[in-house]
Amino acid sequence: MSDLFVDNPQSAGLEHQNGSDPRQRAWMEVSAQAVESNARALRQLLAPGCALMAVVKADGYGHGAETVARAAICGGATSLGVATLQEGIELRRAGLELPVLVLGNLIQVEDLRACLHWQLMPTLSSMREALLCQNLASGSGRRFAVQLKLDTGMTRLGCDWQDGSRLTQAIQQLDQLILRGVYSHLALADGGPSGDAERITRLQQERFEAVTRAHRSDNLQFHLANSAGTLRDRSLHHDQVRVGLALYGHAPSEHLNQTVPLEPAMGVKARVSLIRDVPAGVGVSYGHRFVTSRPSRLAVVGIGYADGVSRCLSGQIAVLHAGRRLPQVGAITMDQLMVDATDHPTLDVGDVVTLLGSDGDAVIHPQDWAELSDSIPWEVLCSFKHRLPRLVV
Ligand SMILES: *Cc1c(COP(=O)(O)O)cnc(C)c1O
Repeated sequence: MSDLFVDNPQSAGLEHQNGSDPRQRAWMEVSAQAVESNARALRQLLAPGCALMAVVKADGYGHGAETVARAAICGGATSLGVATLQEGIELRRAGLELPVLVLGNLIQVEDLRACLHWQLMPTLSSMREALLCQNLASGSGRRFAVQLKLDTGMTRLGCDWQDGSRLTQAIQQLDQLILRGVYSHLALADGGPSGDAERITRLQQERFEAVTRAHRSDNLQFHLANSAGTLRDRSLHHDQVRVGLALYGHAPSEHLNQTVPLEPAMGVKARVSLIRDVPAGVGVSYGHRFVTSRPSRLAVVGIGYADGVSRCLSGQIAVLHAGRRLPQVGAITMDQLMVDATDHPTLDVGDVVTLLGSDGDAVIHPQDWAELSDSIPWEVLCSFKHRLPRLVV
């Protein structure tokens, strides 16, 4: 029971609403300082005139949107990107006043009206939305700042890039709209430096620049790069980069890992709730997928798939304790998982193990889980649930 509640939660600033220590069972630790230093490191990579947009959609990739937005701003971000109207409103309600771009498509007039009210910039993909915005703005006596998206090869949102120049002009002629930026999104920028990834990225860049060239003197902000594009090549930066994953301390792929020093901002931890000594030949957890091959010391850890540890990872991951790796065994259950502590006789009830993040020199990255579960680090970060208390450290 050595370190159970050894810290005074009040003095550590970690008291929960009900006054109890949120670190009783399982929790996430978010380092605002890591986000700030990642933003700073990314800014160093950008040309002086190039701005950093912090993409804080999906509750800041699971880290807490307000926390990461404030940290990114301290590190030099000058605008924020969200996916939904609600995410934008929450940032405004939190008192953040810098430009916010809604990256998703808003189709309801009421949603666009709310955008105008909260001074959030909608993304336009067609003249239909531009005219809706123009009408809303005329009725309100207020001008509406918007951005136009071009599809240069992602085949998701945006107008056909061939129509980009015509739409840019048409939107600029709508007197109630202020077209602030024109942007596009890369589909393969995290791929290797040769082959399809390079070819398609260059093609997207050429298409994008065919539009930007025609409007160079128009006082528009042009942006194309996500984290991968930002780390891949400065010629993709244009006037602004939109960075998500790298802000949270992870490179989108192995070969982009060395560009800037990034510090993971999220740690996931849980406590051992019970230690069991069992003989050889005992089946463990649902389905008995794991059977002990020797007399074993098993630790029950209070975190499961309802907290965001995917059941696909059963029997494949490890947890860290005192700088060592302990294999997780048997099916991960909704609220708990089992760890083989036979070779770690000092592990005790109440001890804290690390599922994601570092412990001493050992570290487990979202990328490690992603490789084991046919996923990607983005999805791993977004998968943690509200049951897991989130502590800013
Ligand atoms: C999510 C998103 C980003 C950020 O992507 P990362 O790969 O996490 O850097 C940038 N632009 C758009 C349009 C997005 O939807």
